[in-house]
Amino acid sequence: MTESQIRARGVRDPAVLAAMAKVPRQLFIPDGLRRQAYADEPLPIGEGQTISQPYIVAYMTEALGLKGGEKVLEVGTGSGYQTAVLAEIAGTVWTVEIVDALARRARAILEGLGYANVHFRVGDGSAGWPEEAPFDAIMVTAAAARIPGTLEDQLAVGGRMVVPVGTDAQELLLIRRGRTGFKRESLLAVRFVPLV
Ligand code: SAH
Repeated sequence: MTESQIRARGVRDPAVLAAMAKVPRQLFIPDGLRRQAYADEPLPIGEGQTISQPYIVAYMTEALGLKGGEKVLEVGTGSGYQTAVLAEIAGTVWTVEIVDALARRARAILEGLGYANVHFRVGDGSAGWPEEAPFDAIMVTAAAARIPGTLEDQLAVGGRMVVPVGTDAQELLLIRRGRTGFKRESLLAVRFVPLV
């Protein structure tokens, strides 16, 4: 998967490639679908939600430009797979999920794998995690109808956020916070479940 779907499509950050090769994706997939765990596609994880395609997970992680040691906020824990990839590279991950059943399952899997640098919260991730702000990086894995200002405000100066924005047509935005404001760049067209 890492070679043929991710490296071959241009993801080159060694830390991202190592994390994608290490995290056991099959553990985050419901029992009946495990044979497809490494397929080049998103898969249903229950509660009407999906685990992102491996390439998208790698691409979004690379866009955050993590070097190690960062404070990262993730909105939309879902299966916990993206959380694990972030936790492999960053210092600490704070992850928020609105569906309690998904948050519990993700937490059990991540704790079982021994990730001690992940903090979980059930609730509306649109509010971020103000007590822990500012974050060096923010990853949003559900589509926001418009640019989420509350999350931008929780970025550190020099920090980066990747977020799918839009309703029918969505684009993945990379937002960088500089000393004097935000730079927003469109990376690619995407399809995510909406933030609720
Ligand atoms: N990163 C996940 C992708 C999950 S899909 C993975 O790799 O599995 C997006 C997730 O965002 C879903 O689990 C959905 O329940 C969650 N979500 C939607 N709206 C949310 C909100 N307002 N706050 C937190 N999580 C939300």
